[in-house]
Amino acid sequence: MTLLELDDVHAYYGASHILRGVSMAVDEGEVISLLGRNGAGKTTTVRSITGTEPPEVRSGTVRFDGADITDWPTDDITRAGIGVVPEGRRLFTELTVEENLKMSEIASASWNTVRRRASGSGPPTMEIDELYELFPRLEERRSQRSGTLSGGEQQMLSIARTLRLPDLDLLLLDEPTEGLAPQIIRSVSESIREISDQGLTVLLIEQNVREALKLADRGYVLDQGEMVYEGTVEELENEDLDEYLVV
Ligand code: ATP
Repeated sequence: MTLLELDDVHAYYGASHILRGVSMAVDEGEVISLLGRNGAGKTTTVRSITGTEPPEVRSGTVRFDGADITDWPTDDITRAGIGVVPEGRRLFTELTVEENLKMSEIASASWNTVRRRASGSGPPTMEIDELYELFPRLEERRSQRSGTLSGGEQQMLSIARTLRLPDLDLLLLDEPTEGLAPQIIRSVSESIREISDQGLTVLLIEQNVREALKLADRGYVLDQGEMVYEGTVEELENEDLDEYLVV
């Protein structure tokens, strides 16, 4: 079943026409990579999905779980089940690891009373203990202020915090490996693989093509606001896409 679908989306920053007819589909349970160079429009695509302004989507539709969410406010989109790990990991740097995770618990508790999953399907909200199993490094550092964590640890915390959202169906990761050392990239990638194995659908925005393709089922390539390629991982590996990608 198609979980997320973009159909001919045009997005603008003021007069700048950035996304020029972007279409893509993500099926339930898939890991999809959205690839492209700096400035290709990847983050603009994420923001168009989550209703974060700017940009402004002036035409086209974004559908999620059967609903047209194009004009929905961001909070409603989050409640509908889309969680974003934004580029640059926005943490509460003065709070400890555990306090950061508990902050989302407060949000979950109030949301759960507002909306309970009607169908009972999909993965449940992850408990803090389960998150520590997924990211043992975070458990070791549970009392450390998050501002003093390494870049890789901050990325893990940023992902873990998003996994606390109630009724999460789709995880959007905006360049999770950016600026990380190779060994840490591997460990973050393994966690993303485990998350997807637990049934969560993942849209992975990446410049790091090698890592992205290791994880993904299919990929899309964006260039100058247009989708220039779509294919399975094998097809992407065999295609000469160097002009659009950082390989
Ligand atoms: P990166 O990998 O560098 O994050 P990206 O593929 O995510 O790149 P976007 O951030 O979506 O690219 O940017 C697409 C284009 O939109 C760029 O030309 C950028 O300069 C422009 N842009 C991004 N944000 C704004 C903004 N707030 N106002 C005006 N133009 C913007």
